[in-house]
Amino acid sequence: MTVIPVRDDLKALEGYHSPQVDVRVRLNTNESPVPPPAAWRDAFASELSRVEWHRYPDRSATELRTGIAELHGVRADQVFAANGSNEVLQTLLLTYAGPGRTVATFEPTYQLHGHIARLTGATVAEGERAADFRLDLAEVDRVIESAQPIITFLCSPNNPTGLEESESDVRAVVAAAPGIVVVDEAYGQFASWSALGLIDDDLPLVVSRTFSKTWSMAGSRLGYLVGPAWLVAELDKVILPYHLDSAKQIAGRLALRYADEMEARVQMIVAERERIAATLATLPVDAFESGANFILFRPRTMPGRRVWDGLLQHSVLIRDCSGWDRLENCLRVTVGTSEENDAFLAALTEVLA
Ligand SMILES: *Cc1c(COP(=O)(O)O)cnc(C)c1O
Repeated sequence: MTVIPVRDDLKALEGYHSPQVDVRVRLNTNESPVPPPAAWRDAFASELSRVEWHRYPDRSATELRTGIAELHGVRADQVFAANGSNEVLQTLLLTYAGPGRTVATFEPTYQLHGHIARLTGATVAEGERAADFRLDLAEVDRVIESAQPIITFLCSPNNPTGLEESESDVRAVVAAAPGIVVVDEAYGQFASWSALGLIDDDLPLVVSRTFSKTWSMAGSRLGYLVGPAWLVAELDKVILPYHLDSAKQIAGRLALRYADEMEARVQMIVAERERIAATLATLPVDAFESGANFILFRPRTMPGRRVWDGLLQHSVLIRDCSGWDRLENCLRVTVGTSEENDAFLAALTEVLA
C-alpha cells in the first residue's frame, strides 16, 4: 500500500476527539438538552418543501445576515456566517494567519483555536492563565510583546473552565494587541455581559457566536461573527462560494423568530446550572464559577478519571478533562434537563461516597 505523506507541518498534529459512548444521560458536549420549538420545526419543513433545489443558494445569505444584524443592532455588512463557528474561525485564520504569522491563545482554553491555527501553518504562542484559570494581564502583555500575534484569542465564557473574561480585561487585551482580537462567545447568551457592545469598524475586534448551543441547533452547523465591515469583506473573498446551503440559511433565518423561546431555554439552563453548583458545593469537589451551560470541577478525594468511570457505570457520560494539559483531575459536566441533572448529581454523590 502506498501512503502519501501529509504536509511536514501537519505530521505532529492530532485530530480533535470527543469520545461518544452509548449512555442514558449524555452531558459531555455542551449541547442544548432540549430540541428547538416545534413551531420552528414545522416552519422549517414547510419552507424546505418550497426550495428550488436545482438553483444555487443565495451566495451572500443576505436575509440570514440581515436577521442576525438586527438581533445584535449592527449592520449586515458586519456579519459573517458559516458552517458552525468553527468554520467562522477557520476562515478568519485562513485569511489572517498562515505561515510566518503567529496566533496567541491563553491556556487552558478551547482546543480548536490553536488547532485550526496550526492547520493554516501559523505558529501558536501559548500564554498561561493564572492558577485559578483567570487571565493574567502581565502574562498577556509578555506574550503579545514577544509574539506580536496577528490574532489573539479569548473565549468568554471560556471553554472548558466556564469562567467569563471581564469587560476591563477584554478592553485591556484589545488595547495591547497589535492585530485582531477574537472573543469566542459560543456560550455568550449564558453570560452576564457580551463583547458585542464593543464592536466598531475602527476596532480590530470580532465576536464569534454559534447556533449550536443556546439555539439548540448543533445538528444544523451554523455560526457567525460580528466585526468590522472591512474584515468581513476580506473573509467573503476567502470562503468557498455557496458554502451555506439553502436549508441552513432557512434554518437560521427561521430560528431568529424564536428568540424569546431561546431566551427561556437559557433562563432554564442558568437556573439548573446554579442548582448543580449549589449541590457541588456540598460535595468533596472544587467547582469553578461558570457563566456557561457547563461546570468544570475537580474531585478532592479521588482521581478524576475514577469518578468519570464511576459515573459511566451509572450510565452518565460527562467530559473527562483529567488528562488534558493544565486540567489535572478535572471533569466537565454539561447542564442538562432537571431529570438529567438529578441523575448526574445522584450518581456523583454515590461515586464520591
Ligand atoms: C462548541 C464551541 C464552538 C463550536 O461551535 P460550532 O458552531 O458548533 O462549530 C466554538 N467555540 C467554543 C468555545 C465552543 O465551545
